Amino acid sequence: MQTLKQLSALLKSKQLSATELAQSYLDRITSSDLNAFINVNPEQTLAQAKQADARLARGDAGELIGLPIAHKDIFVTCGWPSTAGSKMLSGYNSPFDASVVEQFRTAGMVTLGKLNCDEFAMGSSNENSFFGPVKNPWDKAAVPGGSSGGSGAAVAGGLTPAATGTDTGGSIRQPAALCGITGIKPTYGRVSRYGMIAFASSLDQGGPMAWTAEDCALLLNAMTAYDPRDATCIESDAEDFTRHLGDSLKGLKIGIPKEYFGDGLAADVRAAIEAALKDYEKLGATLVDVSLPKTSMSIPAYYVIAPAEASSNLSRFDGVRYGHRAKDYTDLSDMYRKSRAEGFGDEVKRRILIGAYVLSHGYYDAYYLQAQKIRRLIANDFQDAFKSCDVIMGPVAPTVAWDLGSKANDPVANYLADIYTLSTSLAGLPGMSIPCGFGQGEKNAHRPVGLQLIGNYFNEAKLLNVAHQFQLATDWHSRRPAVE
Ligand code: GLN
Repeated sequence: MQTLKQLSALLKSKQLSATELAQSYLDRITSSDLNAFINVNPEQTLAQAKQADARLARGDAGELIGLPIAHKDIFVTCGWPSTAGSKMLSGYNSPFDASVVEQFRTAGMVTLGKLNCDEFAMGSSNENSFFGPVKNPWDKAAVPGGSSGGSGAAVAGGLTPAATGTDTGGSIRQPAALCGITGIKPTYGRVSRYGMIAFASSLDQGGPMAWTAEDCALLLNAMTAYDPRDATCIESDAEDFTRHLGDSLKGLKIGIPKEYFGDGLAADVRAAIEAALKDYEKLGATLVDVSLPKTSMSIPAYYVIAPAEASSNLSRFDGVRYGHRAKDYTDLSDMYRKSRAEGFGDEVKRRILIGAYVLSHGYYDAYYLQAQKIRRLIANDFQDAFKSCDVIMGPVAPTVAWDLGSKANDPVANYLADIYTLSTSLAGLPGMSIPCGFGQGEKNAHRPVGLQLIGNYFNEAKLLNVAHQFQLATDWHSRRPAVE
């Protein structure tokens, strides 16, 4: 289970061909029982690998050429069905590639297939997928986190060295944390949403998941080109996200928000986070107390705004324009009703109902507008905090991965577990998760803990170095689950 950086060296020195590399991952995918992949197309993968080998033979310098990647099934792809983890889109074949998919193809990466996820990216445990739950490679009785649970499990389980994810309220950071890998959600607008099946458009943001911060920087280099097809994509000059890797952390001020260390934080997670913060002090950083007073409001605000946007975005799945169509119906309304009732799962229906309710006449001011005001206050909290620190750190999730099934019928328990990731999304800030230890006790000792790093807008390159320096000094990112 090597990093992209290591695999790239093997490809460049001709110790390995892109075809051999792709084949070895395809073999592992076939024999895996994690349910991380929901669609593979070996023929297509090997054709891409062949093209990459030709580029490598020509001495093409691109750093990512021939390296495998797998995509969360929220990105549409030609050659693999695109389902968003839903029966609604089961078997749907997109006539085009999402911008992110296209960008990685241009960079020469080889697509291994499509990764399981919560239906339309709604969830925190990957148990809301029409294609069944994903297992956490560290402990198959545990959830991998969500909604990019397939991405987290596939990287941690050695089925791909890199994956894409999307983060609307934590879905890159939380599965990265629960699966013991590295993931970054960039500033909102950095990564094109074109071809990324929409959940909540003002929050959705794609990003990379891999073993190391260094790998994530390489992947971000390839996936952040300006895209005029996404109106919220930021028009800025191309950036090299590796440019700060190597900077010293001496004098770095790390803000510790007291609201992230309250009663809800499990003792074993707290212990791992505090140990990591001590390591940062050894690297020359100082810890400063900061406050993000509206943290607890992030849950009600997010669970109004995200469902509101989802109810609007998902109206396109009506059995006519897109999606599953019921077989028996009496008239047009009946067809819509039955198609949507059959095509969507419970959590998606719940959110559509909540969203339609909070947007309806009479409730809009009371819920949706209030939530938007809170969103602004949450963003302001961060700007106040950044006056006294360069980066904010805390846990990604209040606990390590929980048992599969244990919260599956309790949506509110799932929502509460998002407490440390939602604010960053509402504010549109970049956030990342890096492995920093494991839980405690017989059950949790092999379940990873993620440290969250939050930066100010457009500070990804610095954030990646703050993570990289930790990874140079510690070996949590090099731990691998025991493979059977
Ligand atoms: N867990 C959150 C939700 O269920 C976040 C999901 C996400 O970031 N896509 O909405």
